[in-house]
Amino acid sequence: ILPPEVYRQAVNQADLAISITDPSARILYANDSFSRITGYGQEDIIGLNESILSNHTTPREIYAEMWSALQAHRPWSGKLLNKRKCGDVYLAELSITPVLDNNGEIVNFLGMHRDVTEMH
Ligand code: FAD
Repeated sequence: ILPPEVYRQAVNQADLAISITDPSARILYANDSFSRITGYGQEDIIGLNESILSNHTTPREIYAEMWSALQAHRPWSGKLLNKRKCGDVYLAELSITPVLDNNGEIVNFLGMHRDVTEMH
């Protein structure tokens, strides 16, 4: 079994933007790549909803699909138009996984995304 510090350093230094939220999508943790890609530092982002990243051009149906999968304890992945702190728009390839406790209740969400703007 690896010590917790190894997990922490690995997640911190991952090349993907990684965030952990509470069940209402409020950000509890974001790694260094999250700051690099979104432009939001730790001090800006903790406590805000992930919707801060939305460019508000993604159709409602996409979010409805996302939340119905997540509420059904299924992971969701897809592409969204996101906005950096500076206002630049980028295409995010995002994957969200519900994290369950021992009673099967959602306690957190794990979000991982990368900027795929260049690939389009
Ligand atoms: P909202 O009013 O927040 O929601 C739109 C619809 O989603 C509503 O109809 C509502 O019923 C449903 N909904 C919202 N929150 C919940 C909830 N907690 N439980 C059940 N249903 C809910 N969005 C992005 O645009 N870009 C991202 O990079 C991004 N990353 C995310 C990462 C994680 C880990 C999670 C959990 C969510 C992420 N989201 C992201 C989704 C984000 O939280 C918002 O739901 C979304 O941006 C829409 O925000 P809104 O304010 O436009 O609409």
